[in-house]
Amino acid sequence: MADERIYNFSAGPSMLPVPVLERCASEMLNYKGSGMSVMEMSHRSKVYDGIITETEAALRRVLSIPDGYKVLFLQGGASTQFAAIPMNLMRTGKADYALTGNFSNNAYKEACKFGDIHVAFSSKESGFDRVPTQQQLDVRPDADYFYICANNTIYGTEFPYDPVSPAGVPLVADMSSNILSKPVDVSKYGVIYAGAQKNMGPAGVTVVIVRDDLLGHYPLDKAPVMLDWKTMADKGSMYNTPPTYGIYVLGLVLEWVEQCGGVSAMQALAAQRSGLLYDYLDGQSFYQPVADKGSRSRMNVTFRTGDDALDAKFAKEAAAVGMSNLKGHRSVGGMRASIYNAMPVEGVEHLIDFMQRFAAENA
Ligand SMILES: *Cc1c(COP(=O)(O)O)cnc(C)c1O
Repeated sequence: MADERIYNFSAGPSMLPVPVLERCASEMLNYKGSGMSVMEMSHRSKVYDGIITETEAALRRVLSIPDGYKVLFLQGGASTQFAAIPMNLMRTGKADYALTGNFSNNAYKEACKFGDIHVAFSSKESGFDRVPTQQQLDVRPDADYFYICANNTIYGTEFPYDPVSPAGVPLVADMSSNILSKPVDVSKYGVIYAGAQKNMGPAGVTVVIVRDDLLGHYPLDKAPVMLDWKTMADKGSMYNTPPTYGIYVLGLVLEWVEQCGGVSAMQALAAQRSGLLYDYLDGQSFYQPVADKGSRSRMNVTFRTGDDALDAKFAKEAAAVGMSNLKGHRSVGGMRASIYNAMPVEGVEHLIDFMQRFAAENA
């Protein structure tokens, strides 16, 4: 069955490691002698407590999350956090955002409902083809936080460094599409958050990693309790029913990452996959890479032929030979190959073979 699988280049939900899917299948009807599926289990049961406790411990090990940070497993997707972030972090009502794509723009629009939001950088004019250098960032020293999107899934750009904000301004990062792809110095961030469905597991669980001192400023008298990180932290992500099955699969993915050698091994594989593709793109002229060279994402590689009809033909013919979801996002056009942790290097080699053939046939 596993050998009938195709290379799925979807931006998300995206491929999961085959050993993880096999574990899900083998444990589906009877999880470790409990006589039931994880899906059927009370979130307050002893056996489920083991799952969520070990998942958090594994995430702390894999990302070397220091003491002094809480880990939350929430529902509502990354997009719900676009509102939760200003609601939890605003004290004076000022926040600064780097606009580097669709998702940071959505987060910015949401934050504008809550306070005075300053644009610290925007690459909108050039079609979000780049992320800022540290020097290009204009962050107010009295902002309550500074917000970035670490990897821009749609445009195929990624911060190659950890931005530094003025002293006392916590850095908040959406890492939905590059978490677990490299080591991160969590201590440089006030908040790191990510929807799971790109690089961590199935849709439905969102991880929020938040520094302790940032909790407790939420305006609970007016705002929905479901968005209050402190309540969620105090209740161990169980104020209400957490996304139980998604947390279990995340735990299996983390176990797989550890077996593969951790996030350093993921980083080496990501460099290999994306290096193969960018080297190929740089050595030919049929396809044009979309992202500026210094901002290229290791997770989402965007390119185009310059001819919409040819781009459509590419995605269609690739699908016919076992490579799905290569069509670019509607706002960018062209092609996008999303190559997260679970994408084997062979998938990228297969793609490059096809790109060469397609170029030769259509040049
Ligand atoms: C997919 C994505 C989102 C949106 O996630 P949802 O879970 O669909 O809300 C936000 N940010 C980034 C970087 C993403 O890739």
